[in-house]
Amino acid sequence: MAPTAPFPSTLCAHGPAVAFEGVSKHYGSVVAIDAVSATILPGTFVAIVGSSGSGKSTLVKAVNRLVEPDAGSVRIDGQDVLEREQHELRRSIGYVFQNIGLFPHMNVAQNIGIGSRIASRKPLPDDQVAALLDLVDLPRDFATRLPEQLSGGQQQRVGVARALAGEPGLMLMDEPFGALDPVTREALGEQYRALHERLGLTTIMVTHDMAEALLFADRIWVMASGRIVADASPAEMIAGQCGPEAEALVAVPRLQADRITAMRNMQPQP
Ligand code: ADP
Ligand code: MG
Repeated sequence: MAPTAPFPSTLCAHGPAVAFEGVSKHYGSVVAIDAVSATILPGTFVAIVGSSGSGKSTLVKAVNRLVEPDAGSVRIDGQDVLEREQHELRRSIGYVFQNIGLFPHMNVAQNIGIGSRIASRKPLPDDQVAALLDLVDLPRDFATRLPEQLSGGQQQRVGVARALAGEPGLMLMDEPFGALDPVTREALGEQYRALHERLGLTTIMVTHDMAEALLFADRIWVMASGRIVADASPAEMIAGQCGPEAEALVAVPRLQADRITAMRNMQPQP
C-alpha cells in the first residue's frame, strides 16, 4: 500500500470523503482494528472483504460512532467525527446492516421515516415515502404494509429506503444482503450500485462475497487481523499481486467461473 498522505483538517472539495488516520480499537486483548489509515474519494464505492473477525464491522462502525476508537481519527469531508453531535452525525449517514430490524408493529412508511424524523416525531410526508419506495423499486402501496407481510429481500429494500430518507451523502452497508438468496442478492447489489451512481453517493459496503465486491465496487479493501492488507481496484485484484489474502479471496469466484466454463464446454454440441 502507498504511504498515507497527511489529510487536510478543513473541508476540501477534492479531499477524501472519508479518511481513517491510525485508527485502532481493542477489546481486552483482542485487536479489532490495528492502526488503519486509508482514504475514500467522494463518489467511490468501497467494498470491504476479509474473513470473519478481521475487523470489517468495527471499522465501519467507527465512521458513525457506533464504535469509539482507542486511537486515531475518522474524518468525513475533513471534519473529525468526534467534533460532530452524535445523533446529527448518524442521521446524516445511511446505515444498512444484515437483518435490518424493522419495527414489527410499524408499517413500511413509519419504518422508513423513523431515522430521519426521530427528532421531530413527525411522519414522513406521503410523497417522500412514495419517492423512496420508487428508489428501491418497491410498489408504493407497500407503504401501509407491516414488515411481516414482506419477503426478506423486500425488507432489506425498506432498510435501504430508510437509510436514504435522511438524504445521506455517505452510506455504510454491513453485509446488507448477506442473508438473502443469491438471485435476490445479485439483483439488490446491482440495483444498489445504480442508486449509488444516480444519487452520487459515497458507499462503504462490507461483504463476504468477493464476486459481489469485484462486480460492484470501485475499490476493494481486504482486511486481515484488523489491518487493511490490500487496497486495490477490482481489475488489480483479478490481475493478482495484491498479496496472499486477496489472492485467496479472488481464487474462489475464479475457480467457480472456470468450473462452470469447463462444464459448459463438456456439453454435447447440437
Ligand atoms: P468482522 O466484521 O470482520 O467479522 P468485527 O469487526 O465484528 O469483525 O470484529 C473484530 C474482532 O473484534 C473480533 O475478534 C470480534 O470478536 C471482536 N469484537 C467486535 N466487537 C466486539 C465487542 N463489542 N466486544 C468484544 N469484542 C468484540
Ligand atoms: Mg461483521
